[in-house]
Amino acid sequence: MDRSDQSVNPLKPVILTQCGVPDRRRMVERELGRRYGQDYDVLIASSRSEAAAMLEALSADGRAVALVLADDATPVDGATSLFAFARHRFPDVRRGLLIEWGEWADRQCATSVLHLMATGQIDYYVIRPWRGPDEYFHRTVTEFLLEWERASGSRPHEVTLVGAPRSARVHDLRSLLARGGVPHSFVPGDSEEGRRLLAQNDMRDDVPMVLLHDGRVLRDPTNTELVQAYGVDTEVAALVERDLVVVGAGPAGLSAAVYAASEGLSVLVLESEAIGGQAGSSSLIRNYLGFARGISGAELAQRAYQQAWVFGATFAHTREATGLHPGGDRLILDVAPDRQVHARAVVLATGVSYRRLGVPELEALFGAGVYYGASGVEAQALRDRVAHVVGGGNSAGQAALHLARYAKSVSLLVRAESLAESMSRYLIDALAAAGVQVRMGIEVVGGGGHGNLEHIRLLDRRTGTETTEPSDGLFVLIGAEPRTGWLPETLLRDRWGYVLTGEDVLAEGGRRAWPLNRPPRPHEASIPGVFAVGDVRRGSVKRVSSAVGEGAVVISEVHAHIGERAVPSLAPAGARPVR
Ligand SMILES: Cc1cc2nc3c(=O)[nH]c(=O)nc-3n(C[C@H](O)[C@H](O)[C@H](O)COP(=O)(O)OP(=O)(O)OC[C@H]3O[C@@H](n4cnc5c(N)ncnc54)[C@H](O)[C@@H]3O)c2cc1C
Repeated sequence: MDRSDQSVNPLKPVILTQCGVPDRRRMVERELGRRYGQDYDVLIASSRSEAAAMLEALSADGRAVALVLADDATPVDGATSLFAFARHRFPDVRRGLLIEWGEWADRQCATSVLHLMATGQIDYYVIRPWRGPDEYFHRTVTEFLLEWERASGSRPHEVTLVGAPRSARVHDLRSLLARGGVPHSFVPGDSEEGRRLLAQNDMRDDVPMVLLHDGRVLRDPTNTELVQAYGVDTEVAALVERDLVVVGAGPAGLSAAVYAASEGLSVLVLESEAIGGQAGSSSLIRNYLGFARGISGAELAQRAYQQAWVFGATFAHTREATGLHPGGDRLILDVAPDRQVHARAVVLATGVSYRRLGVPELEALFGAGVYYGASGVEAQALRDRVAHVVGGGNSAGQAALHLARYAKSVSLLVRAESLAESMSRYLIDALAAAGVQVRMGIEVVGGGGHGNLEHIRLLDRRTGTETTEPSDGLFVLIGAEPRTGWLPETLLRDRWGYVLTGEDVLAEGGRRAWPLNRPPRPHEASIPGVFAVGDVRRGSVKRVSSAVGEGAVVISEVHAHIGERAVPSLAPAGARPVR
């Protein structure tokens, strides 16, 4: 099928700049026009009121605005800055405060940047170009445009998914693509474009269809068929042997793969869902070292995946580890549906999954309005609708903040009486600034709808009264459970299921829990050669950077274990250490 004529938005997206000083404005206009004029409409305003009027007109014309750069952040309509004004009309727009070189040293400027960042009004500051070409300036602008393109999905991509917007299966596929960092666009099956594409391929809209840029068409694909189609490996050969098998490709597993492969070990990574784990569902990780503007979890995971891959690690995507058995000098892992792999060491990096609400009528609507966690995919589907988020922790706060960009209204439902203990202060402030309604002492006890969520039932714990209210999306972030149910009983866990490692093995399991004369290494579990890192390990700090750190340091323990056993390397001939 020739899809070269497919264009979701035939008009150029807009880059809008407001700059109050004529000389500076001319320089910004020249730099932007020269570099981006071909593909974007570059519009310039001298004042914030002029810029606001232009945004209003662009919104009325149905245009897409990709980027707003402005040097004036004072309120534009009595209450909000130009940036908040822009985000309100264009939820995916990227926004940068233009500052002069060196101005960050000025206290007033620094305070303004910090305030605008903390309240989510800007994505970052941008140093105004003072020479042409100014590649630092262009690097920032290009990153903004790339992020906008990914978030908005408004341009044709390598992969196009067509289907019913609120179907559970469509949700699964979109989530898999988004978490895997695959550039894709979504076309609702009931839109004009959707009907055209479905008819062209002789399809009905009650099953999802995937179009690939090379003309291939997948009808109602399984997860494995979808990831195979975009070129990743899902196969586990019979009788695979590796120095190290890593179970789970979240931040901890990816880090272990990078360090092990770079140090010459042969590595296989098993991942049952999508690369990135929980981090892949985070729209913006703000506290990972080195990414001052933040980075989307999917982007971070993709970079780590490519890094592990170029060091020689192999991956089996959509393959789940279902059993672990010690077998002499080797450890044997069962991989669904019918494979076994042998390894000299195993790193468990299976993380945690979201705790369920336990309300049967809402479980039945999982994927059709009820979601565990929150990613950009569902947020966009809730444009101009009513959303509720359940939970009082930072991830619930982040999800509510993200949803507030799209939804007509967002309520954060918290069982406790206060957020002070569970949520960071900056998030509480950002929620207030974004207009999220925080409702304390509220529990979700029911809900329903015809095929999709339409309403939820809430219990006010203080008064004992129950009310029903409309809801188009319920996002549940009420904590997590470790994914360890598949491990043998001899691998000790605490009462919540987190894997015991190091000193905890002897302290809680006693001498009989450990077969060797030496004590377990710090990340070693109760079976020698099996290690646990990241969120699945008892006592770990639940952060991306600590998961990455544990994934890196565990490899020295893996080396020590392999050295101690002195069995021949399982590395394929020719594999050389890269240091
Ligand atoms: C919405 C959200 C926002 C967050 N934001 C931040 C943030 O801003 N900053 C921060 O520092 N932290 C943040 N976190 C926490 C952070 O994402 C986690 O601490 C981190 O992802 C833990 O990494 P991990 O590799 O240990 O586990 P996970 O990320 O949970 O990854 C585990 C992986 O193992 C796979 N797996 C599980 N069982 C099996 C099996 N049997 N076989 C094969 N594969 C399996 C899973 O599919 C998953 O991909 C956030 C979390 C969430 C949910």
